[in-house]
Amino acid sequence: MAQRVQGTEDLYGNYMRAWQHMQDVAREVFGAYGFDLIETPAIEQVATFVHGIGESTDVVRKEMFRVYSGALIDTLLSKGSEEGLKAKQRLALRPEGTAGVVRAAVQNNFVPQGGAPVKLWYAGPMFRGERPQKGRLRQFHQVGVEWLGAPDAAADAECIIMLMRYFERLGFAPDSLKLAINSMGDVACRPAYRNKVRTFILDHADQMCSDCLERAEINPLRAFDCKNDHCREVMSDAPLAPDNLCDDCAEHYAQVKRYLDEAGIDYVEDPTLVRGLDYYTRTVFEVEVEGAGVGAIGGGGRYDGLMELEGGKPTPGLGFAVGFERIALALEAQGVNMGGDAPSCVYVACTPDVRTHVFSAVLALREAGIRTEADYQGRSLKSQFKQANKLGARLCVVLGPDEVAEGVATLRDMSTHDQVQVPLGELAPYVAARLSPC
Ligand code: AMP
Repeated sequence: MAQRVQGTEDLYGNYMRAWQHMQDVAREVFGAYGFDLIETPAIEQVATFVHGIGESTDVVRKEMFRVYSGALIDTLLSKGSEEGLKAKQRLALRPEGTAGVVRAAVQNNFVPQGGAPVKLWYAGPMFRGERPQKGRLRQFHQVGVEWLGAPDAAADAECIIMLMRYFERLGFAPDSLKLAINSMGDVACRPAYRNKVRTFILDHADQMCSDCLERAEINPLRAFDCKNDHCREVMSDAPLAPDNLCDDCAEHYAQVKRYLDEAGIDYVEDPTLVRGLDYYTRTVFEVEVEGAGVGAIGGGGRYDGLMELEGGKPTPGLGFAVGFERIALALEAQGVNMGGDAPSCVYVACTPDVRTHVFSAVLALREAGIRTEADYQGRSLKSQFKQANKLGARLCVVLGPDEVAEGVATLRDMSTHDQVQVPLGELAPYVAARLSPC
């Protein structure tokens, strides 16, 4: 039997409804904040991610799925390396959404110099070559937002508030959400801080794992995220970002917190929160669900240098992304069925001798926008009723020779079993009225 790729999932039924619900709620909540939907390609040039996410990140170094056409693979194999390939021949499946949206903003000049900020949201599959486990997939789905051209700390706070409102609207108990924030500084203060952490790691080299020693050279701040307990203990004495901010960054961070306080948003300051992607500057944030055991369900931050890294003019930006699969797991643990109930339908049942009359009744109901099912396998009337129950039909339209002769249909309520006769010509409006909530 053909098998799914490990670390991927088929989305259907209740799970698919849950994913669609996440997008519907996003459209509503983010729409109120002025965000419009954007869809960028799932495949981009490798350079887009290398510039944006950062060459030294795990995502780019180890997890990006590279894509080559069959013809290119032959060339690659004969040459033994990628060296001869042009930039446009080096492609990857997107591991996250921000780099692609920022690339689109640069290419389409979404934020002309001096122009108004642009607010975009997206939803779609992302791809990372990770070792699959609970809440960690190789193809997963994110909903995210990008707000380009807004340097004001109010934008950071509003973005975080919007994220928390989104989670609440999805059904999370507000007390279960743990929001952590931090500021990572900017081009003025971050390089010096990075160096301090690097020196700290090298000063404690004999106590750190080999991964952290490698991180010291390429991305020292990631040592705060090391899985090794001993490294974490050593890093608990490392210099912290908020203590090393320049005056402007310190003021920006203080303002973000003031706005969050004013809005009554609960947060904890986590001075060791460093997000996995290189592009973040100043505010970063992450949300976990207490007791869910799935890690962060969403996170984001400010990336004031990213537009330039993608070849655009200096433009501030910020955003976040949330993961569908982890949210679904965490909500399930709280007893929330994000997919809701399967949609109910109307079933048109008949005796075999009048089957042809079902055709126009079904059409009329569907034309009226009513989800309608019928039998296409020559089942008996009894098993059609069974099928109607299985499909969760609220009403059943029954046609037999007597009904057809009189030009009526019998309408049966599937829960009370009450029956009424309705003229066939009035069936669709009558059914629509019965189904509409009073
Ligand atoms: P990131 O882009 O790494 O900040 O991730 C944002 C969100 O996407 C995380 O909080 C998770 O909810 C989700 N996510 C990231 N990586 C994965 C993965 N491999 N599998 C499932 N969800 C993921």
